[in-house]
Amino acid sequence: MIIDSHNHPNYLGYSTEKILADMAENNIDRTWLLTLETPEHEYSPAYHRITRGNKDGPIPFASCLESFKQAPDKFVLAYAPDPRHPHAIDKLEAAIELYNVRVCGEIMLRMMYDNWDAIALFQVCGKRGLPVIVEVNYGAGSDGRFPNRPGYWYGGGIDAFERAIAQCADTSFLGHGPGFWSHISKDEGYKSSDYPRGEVLPGGKVVEMMRQYPNLYCDLSAYSGLNALKRDVGFTKEFLLEFQDRILYGRDQYDNHLQQFLNSLELPSDVLNKIYSGNSLKLVP
Ligand SMILES: [Zn+2]
Repeated sequence: MIIDSHNHPNYLGYSTEKILADMAENNIDRTWLLTLETPEHEYSPAYHRITRGNKDGPIPFASCLESFKQAPDKFVLAYAPDPRHPHAIDKLEAAIELYNVRVCGEIMLRMMYDNWDAIALFQVCGKRGLPVIVEVNYGAGSDGRFPNRPGYWYGGGIDAFERAIAQCADTSFLGHGPGFWSHISKDEGYKSSDYPRGEVLPGGKVVEMMRQYPNLYCDLSAYSGLNALKRDVGFTKEFLLEFQDRILYGRDQYDNHLQQFLNSLELPSDVLNKIYSGNSLKLVP
């Protein structure tokens, strides 16, 4: 069984119908449908071309709900309201009760992830059994090319994310995005690139955090995940074996590159099964 634990509807030209056809083609049994309710002044204008957003953001909850209703056995419904909105917790709790929302994601916001209002929302997620998916991004890539102007950063760096994880021991977090995956290696590549290359140096923050916080999980989706895994295949196999109980397959796009890569590693089949679906089912039974 394969679960795509990170994807979006009405994204990159994928309607519900197209998503279902793509899932069938890639042997994917279920997909988590995540919102992206980032305020307009916090995201790159490029999102206007790849989503069908509305006032609630590039991928509003209404979009996920519409797709979910068309094939409830194929999708898991997610919703991440902006915690800075004073009604955020009420909106999330209402969505859990009315629509069976199971996941809080994707959080992609230009704030420190240990913002007090974010911590309050994350703690509610812990109580209600919802894992939280966050994008960490330093804005070091192409959007960060303007001198003296920060790029599209999200989360305030790995340290702010760590402080949130430490303050919400009962909440499961999934780390995602360039600002998370760059820290697989103890180097400073994260400062200048979204996708740093080269051999993985031991002692990376992601490895340290995975050892320290049992409530931290890894979301392999997007090019940031695949790039990190491809840097140093010897290291990658050890990493996937050590943390086999807290790593989830996901795409955040519609292609099959990650499956091809994972299948090429010759991992024990029980480990591969955990990554493809077991760990996802543990978080959302
Ligand atoms: Zn995403």
